[in-house]
Amino acid sequence: MKLHEHQAKEIFAKYGIPVPEGRVAFSLKEAKEVAQELGEFPLVVKAQIHCGGRGKAGGVKIVKNMEDLEKAVEGMLGKVLKTFQCPDGKPVSRVWIEKATAIDKEFYLSITLDRSKSKPVIMASSAGGMEIEEIAKENPEAIIIEDIDPELGLMPYQARKLAFKLGLPVKEFSQIALKLYKIYTDLDASLVEINPLVLDKEGKVIALDAKLDLDDNALFRHKDLEEMEDQTQIPELEAEAKKYGLNYIKLNGNIGCMVNGAGLAMATMDIIKLAGGEPANFLDVGGGANVEQIANAFRILMADPDVKAVFINIFGGILRCDRLAQGLVEAGKMVELKVPVVVRMEGTNVDEGKRILSESGMNFINAEDMWDGAKKAVELAGGK
Ligand code: GDP
Ligand code: MN
Repeated sequence: MKLHEHQAKEIFAKYGIPVPEGRVAFSLKEAKEVAQELGEFPLVVKAQIHCGGRGKAGGVKIVKNMEDLEKAVEGMLGKVLKTFQCPDGKPVSRVWIEKATAIDKEFYLSITLDRSKSKPVIMASSAGGMEIEEIAKENPEAIIIEDIDPELGLMPYQARKLAFKLGLPVKEFSQIALKLYKIYTDLDASLVEINPLVLDKEGKVIALDAKLDLDDNALFRHKDLEEMEDQTQIPELEAEAKKYGLNYIKLNGNIGCMVNGAGLAMATMDIIKLAGGEPANFLDVGGGANVEQIANAFRILMADPDVKAVFINIFGGILRCDRLAQGLVEAGKMVELKVPVVVRMEGTNVDEGKRILSESGMNFINAEDMWDGAKKAVELAGGK
């Protein structure tokens, strides 16, 4: 789950990481009130979207007076902002307004999990502000990486080492790095990133941007954070799927997939590709899906206009095949079968499941096995 910059900055401030003074606004009226409260110009108006690259896309504006502020806010609120990271754009329903900072130098600082090392890493660079991906590609030695021992946590000497390499005030920077690691662990984050971390003209170190991604699997421990999620930033079908406890990710192909278990979902996508097709999504209904979940999963697949055929690939373990079949029949009553639906079932109560489907009078296409199902789905979706 992603948080907005303004939410992350509010958390940073609570932990004592210096951020510019600012407030969030949902309307022009609120924006003007915020400007008055902050009491001085220049201010920075920043579109709040779950996407980076706003600076280059007109989503970050420095304004010198109330008139410019109005123009900037009106240019953002209610619009869809496209950036190089989000070419389809994200709707802007709120802006963050903060006191402008006189920047001397921009840096990059982040903590994330390095899966290949099975450890968190802290990364820093004096080439901040720009896209770190580009720096990583063209000038990787400009990024300093320290591995963090999860038993020990980020050690103060490591933070000092980074400060020296970056040429930043040691005490100030170390405190920021250590606090950032505390946020990373306290909140079960998967990424905390400050880009840019700046040295201002007075020599102070300030987090000018804030990115905080949380591990969905740990959200049950953070109900307060879970409630902060801005639904407008999540693709509609993904938000819909989440409501029913389904794990759904939209992809670029035209074969809708419904599978139980993440491993089988990966294998299903592989086999579709092997058969010459492209999956339209990843959809894991989970091991113990009920009839309602199956029906909703099916409805979500059918709601995607890119889907030209559906491949249902279920191994009946905890989710018995008869229950799956009932769910599909229920779903078939709720939504029109606009595209062919290939079903491959195996496992517990498979015969009963097949009987329910064949007696339903609905046009489900039976697959002998996974390979047969993949080939049929690819062909029905319009072939290779
Ligand atoms: P992003 O493009 O979505 O990552 O948005 P950022 O918050 O990182 O802002 C982009 C750029 O705008 C920064 O790298 C800064 O160069 C600039 N910027 C943001 N806030 C200020 C500010 O208060 N003063 C100045 N001078 N520049 C700012
Ligand atoms: Mn940034």
